[in-house]
Amino acid sequence: MISLKLDRPDLIRTGAYIGGQWITDGPTFKVQNPADGSVVAEVLDGGPELARQAADAAAEAFETWRKALPKTRSDLLRRWFDLVTRHAEDLARLMSLEQGKPLSESRAEIAYGAGYIEWFSEEARRNGGDVIPRNKDGREMFALTEPLGVAAVVTPWNFPNAMIARKMAPAIAAGCTVVGKPAADTPLSALALAALAEEAEFPPGLLNLVPAAHGNARGVVQAWQDDMRVRKLSFTGSTQTGRKLAEAAAPTLKRLSLELGGDAPFIVLDDADLDVALQALKAAKFRNGGQACTAANRVLVHRDVQDAFVARIEALIDGLKVGPATDPEAEIGPLIHQDAVAKVERLVGQAIEAGAQLRRGGRVHPQLGGTFYAPTLLTGVTAEMEISRTEVFGPVIALQTFADEAEAIRMANDTEYGLAAYLFSKDAGRCWRMTRALEFGVVGVNEGLVSTEVAPFGGVKQSGYGREGSIHGLSEYQSLKYVCFGGIGD
Ligand code: NAD
Repeated sequence: MISLKLDRPDLIRTGAYIGGQWITDGPTFKVQNPADGSVVAEVLDGGPELARQAADAAAEAFETWRKALPKTRSDLLRRWFDLVTRHAEDLARLMSLEQGKPLSESRAEIAYGAGYIEWFSEEARRNGGDVIPRNKDGREMFALTEPLGVAAVVTPWNFPNAMIARKMAPAIAAGCTVVGKPAADTPLSALALAALAEEAEFPPGLLNLVPAAHGNARGVVQAWQDDMRVRKLSFTGSTQTGRKLAEAAAPTLKRLSLELGGDAPFIVLDDADLDVALQALKAAKFRNGGQACTAANRVLVHRDVQDAFVARIEALIDGLKVGPATDPEAEIGPLIHQDAVAKVERLVGQAIEAGAQLRRGGRVHPQLGGTFYAPTLLTGVTAEMEISRTEVFGPVIALQTFADEAEAIRMANDTEYGLAAYLFSKDAGRCWRMTRALEFGVVGVNEGLVSTEVAPFGGVKQSGYGREGSIHGLSEYQSLKYVCFGGIGD
């Protein structure tokens, strides 16, 4: 048994963090461990009033932070990164407590999230805009990068640390100040990051967080939507919510980044290395129990290699260990709550009814029960089934077959989403050809785990717009000021 007790229990914060102060007075909501329903903490249930206070603090701090030297921004983010790294084990335990994922995955997420803080602490010093070759004598021309202003960030429960880090770090590096609302199921990971920001001596108002129960999410975010000083909204979550937020952002014309849902195809061609594809599928499907926007939602296999690949998947599933984060061998944890279990049960049930064959799993885990869903394999799935059109968000492999490259591309693109796609083949020409034809923002070729701070991440179509990570992640929080500087003679 692994203990999830923290060495620094003071990293468990239950208030809102506004203007450098922790506010704890007010109604609360419960944060529960999805593995057993136990209450991890009671957290302040913020509302529009606290959201406005957070925006006030951020707007005031912006007047100073916008002028801070790039080196100052860089150093501050570096101090935050150092503290996150120093307390990584505690942050991982806390994440497993509130989100349920195996500790090894929580550790990986903390390192992944910290990567964004480190990357943007470095990028903060390197983004100077452009000198434009002049088009007339007697003038010089420039495009200066400027911070947008106060940025609001709204994040989901599936990656509760990394989604905060990959939004707040570039915002702060760009010279913005931030207000944020973490997901109601997992606010503690975000609040612990705020505690470490405080320890890193962030100026008051630079980073503000307002937790809220499910019912209050809309009120908090709407207060920021209505606020003209909030110039940017960066959202990660479902497409359904993303659409509502885009609509609500229209009156104030906020700049938006929307990182939304996915329906990733995982294409295995007849010349693929099936062992490489299997290891990639393990990561792309079973990481976080399948609760990822990049999760392989539709496994498309060439019919000639179906039997060989299915046999491998069955062996993989037979060897997978499902369990709570306290189990050192657990590779798959619980789903986030009972509603998520019910959704997976419904999708799997419908697929079977419509003719899919159940090869493994297909129900709640026989020993663990509750929110633990057994790793599942369905073959004979078709594009018409709802399981092929909806984010499953569970450990379910839904396998379809195709006859040739053209059919694989047609099937892969037959979705309203366009976040991640995976492709497996040993033929480089084929890989390039197909990569070009895939209508997705991220393509993994012979790789199942592709997201990193050094590369741009984001979708097309109904998976949203905007990019996070890489040099492009910074521009989401900047505007360009074109300066035409004349009257300087020859
Ligand atoms: P969600 O849309 O229900 O919630 C996301 C966030 O929005 C939460 O903080 C929630 O409290 C808030 N919210 C919900 N309704 C709101 C409203 N009406 N007004 C304002 N805020 C509101 O999504 P979720 O269930 O928390 O997360 C899962 C979804 O996130 C999946 O669709 C997944 O694919 C997506 N996701 C996308 C990415 C990406 O980078 N593209 C990454 C992770 C998760």
